[in-house]
Formats: sequence, C-alpha cells, structure tokens
Amino acid sequence: MKLLEDRIRKDGILAEGDVLKVDCFLNHQMDVKLFHEMGMEFKRLFAGKPINKILTIEASGIGIACVVAECFDVPVLFAKKSQSINLSGDVYATKIQSYTHKRVYDVIVSKRFIGPEDHVLIIDDFLANGCALQGLIELVQDAGATVEGIGICIEKGFQEGGKLIRATGIQLESLAIVDRMDPATGEIVFREQ
Ligand code: 5GP
Repeated sequence: MKLLEDRIRKDGILAEGDVLKVDCFLNHQMDVKLFHEMGMEFKRLFAGKPINKILTIEASGIGIACVVAECFDVPVLFAKKSQSINLSGDVYATKIQSYTHKRVYDVIVSKRFIGPEDHVLIIDDFLANGCALQGLIELVQDAGATVEGIGICIEKGFQEGGKLIRATGIQLESLAIVDRMDPATGEIVFREQ
C-alpha cells in the first residue's frame, strides 16, 4: 500500500535489533486517518469472507484493530497479557514470546467473547518471527472458532514469520513488506506487491 510505504519512508526510524520504529503514526502517536485507509484496504482484501470479529493483542495492535473493526462493522477483541500465575478456567490462554520486550507473556481471552460461531480476522501492527500470530491462531482454534485471515500493517519480510504463517494456508495480507532495511544508511526496500 503506497500510502503506508511513503509514510514509513518519511517517518520510520531504524533502530537496533532489526526494529523499525513507527511510533510517530502507528503504535504510540496514531494517525487515525491513515488507519481508516488501511482498514478500507483490509476490507477490500478480505471481501467475501464471513468475518464477524476482529482479534488483536495488546497493546500496540489495539489502535489499528479498532479502526479495522469499524470498517467491518464488527466487534474487536484484544488478547490480554496476563500478570496472574493462576489462570482461571474461564479463559483461553497461551504463551507468546515478545519480539520487542524479549520476554514471554501469558496471553488470555475470555471464553465469553469467542466461541465456535466466530469467524475471526486477526490484525496486528507488525509481523517479525510470527510468535504473536501463532499464539493468536492457537487461541482462536482452542475456542473452536475459525481464522478467516490475518491482516498486518508492516511485515518484515527478511524475518521468518511470513513464511511460517503462509505455510499454514491461512490468508495473510501485509500492507507493506520490508525486504531490507539498513540502519547505517537509512535505506528501506519494500517488496513489490
Ligand atoms: P513476532 O511475534 O512476529 O516476532 O513480532 C510481532 C510483534 O512484535 C508485534 O506485535 C509488534 O508489536 C512487535 N514488533 C516486531 N517487530 C517490530 C518492529 O520492528 N517494530 C515495532 N515497533 N514492533 C515490532
């Protein structure tokens, strides 16, 4: 999506550890007009799918997921990073390794909000190694619900997540795929889509 690629080129900052910082418009300060354009693009890419719920993970996926949910006119559910050791039986739970915080979180969703009747579109801001998405897919499947697709704002195509997730056969759509980024020169190369 050219609008997003242009914005990444303009405002993205390349940080240590293959991290692309876009906190000026995506996951700290948020450009909601851009989110709306991204939401409408996801709507086009997943047209015809019987999506009745959006799922994301806190915290940085919530902003974009809310706008996508409005475009689809469905509720949005976010998986919570749980602090408690003893998880109660009324939640689906999994563990997710955080790429940016380098730690493992227990992640939960309440059984009240997801079940076999749900057709879920998973939304997240970034795809790197795929741990977050694998955890979210597991939660949906544990609930007996269906993953109708996955929408990602920025995929880092030089990391493994995209390959792993596409191998599952789930429709994965990334609005921008960064194939190369060089912190020394600031160069960012996007995949032609
Ligand atoms: P994964 O689980 O695919 O390895 O990483 C995805 C998660 O890590 C995303 O939810 C996102 O919050 C975070 N993440 C991964 N790479 C980056 C990055 O380059 N920049 C930012 N801002 N977040 C990232």
